[in-house]
Amino acid sequence: MRRLRESLERLYREFDYTARIDRDAIRFPLRYQDPADREIVALLTACLAYGRVDLFSRGLERALAAMGPSPARFVREFDIDRDARAFDGFIYRFNRPRDLVAFCAAARDLLAVYGTLEACFMSGYSPGDPHVGPALEHFTRVFLSADLKRVFSRGRLSRGYRHFFPQPSTGGPCKRLLLFLRWMVRREAPDFGLWASVSPAKLLMPVDTHVENMSRAVGLTRRRTRNWRMVAEVTRRLAALDPADPVKYDFALCHKRMSGDCLGRRDAVVCAPCGLRSVCSHWRHVRRT
Ligand code: SF4
Repeated sequence: MRRLRESLERLYREFDYTARIDRDAIRFPLRYQDPADREIVALLTACLAYGRVDLFSRGLERALAAMGPSPARFVREFDIDRDARAFDGFIYRFNRPRDLVAFCAAARDLLAVYGTLEACFMSGYSPGDPHVGPALEHFTRVFLSADLKRVFSRGRLSRGYRHFFPQPSTGGPCKRLLLFLRWMVRREAPDFGLWASVSPAKLLMPVDTHVENMSRAVGLTRRRTRNWRMVAEVTRRLAALDPADPVKYDFALCHKRMSGDCLGRRDAVVCAPCGLRSVCSHWRHVRRT
């Protein structure tokens, strides 16, 4: 435990965040100074942040260009008849223009009721909850139960829109929305710390394929399936290292693997400078010999 804490702390402290920001989805909300813009752009970015960064970035750039200099104002004033065509031509894997239209219409109605995304999230949050899971369930339910009959005329939400809002109760890892929460809640850069009413201690680790591999390598999980249980297990083990801020290692772990600084296997050259080597399962047998 002590060795793992020291190794991860060193990675966290010494990681070159500036060098990797431009390859991370966080760069999109970072462009906006106004908290309202940052909040809505962060959510839209997280909704679309599946697949390769360079691929979803193209679609997201197009969507943001359509929303103008203030995406929050665009959403608040969104009028389906007037503005739906703004997303014509958008396409990214499961998603089509009508999914973005639905996002804007649902977010507009949510903001009219709650004022901010944070206030909506907090209406499902209880300080006694062990983590953000119950509030995230509520937050996604608000979007999934929005009145979108004018967008989806048959009364059924599209697959693409539902894909924006995975719910913890379905057992998936909900990585993109947990990433959104990390951005909004954590107080230290590169995260924004805009949602002061949520404690970073309640965050859950956004486990994508890179974090999953790194977590296995350093013994944070032995589970085979990336799901909500794995998220809970990884977070629990990280909370044993830093109960106040368990997900602080996320960016560095993810980018270490994504950048090729870790190949997910023993490699004498790539692993030579790695500070995690003393706790890495890929080197366990070598250490014993
Ligand atoms: S020692 Fe090698 S395999 Fe293990 S975490 Fe570091 S770079 Fe990855």
